[in-house]
Amino acid sequence: MNAHRHPSTTDPTPKLPKNARRVLQILKDAGRPLTAYQVLDELRAFGVTAAPTAYRSLDRLVATGLVHRLETLSAFVACDRAECHGPAAIAVCTECRQTTEMTGDMVPGYLQGWADAEDFAIDTVAIEMLGRCADCRRNHQDP
Ligand SMILES: [Zn+2]
Ligand SMILES: [Zn+2]
Repeated sequence: MNAHRHPSTTDPTPKLPKNARRVLQILKDAGRPLTAYQVLDELRAFGVTAAPTAYRSLDRLVATGLVHRLETLSAFVACDRAECHGPAAIAVCTECRQTTEMTGDMVPGYLQGWADAEDFAIDTVAIEMLGRCADCRRNHQDP
């Protein structure tokens, strides 16, 4: 018997609507979090001016796991992994807004263990670590 894989993690990209693929490309090119408004700004180059189109595409990408929503910045960032099962946490540099995904089973496993013990049903988990990246700290050495 082969180990089962989650069916939802098979590459969803080809099935994405055109605008969702454009939004994904915009976020990948940016390489950092963009707000929905900034995404819409970039979409204008493709003749898309309707905000609901941008929001729908972003929602869809978040649902597929190709894009992560950053609650603290009200922004969106493209997943930096080929096959993401959801980040355990995302570290956000508050100066340059660069993000780094932390993945692994330890944190989700711990949270699930707590939820099981408390009989709490988790819908979503959003962990964001705010701070300054190594580059930004080097550039501004605190006295
Ligand atoms: Zn990811
Ligand atoms: Zn930084």
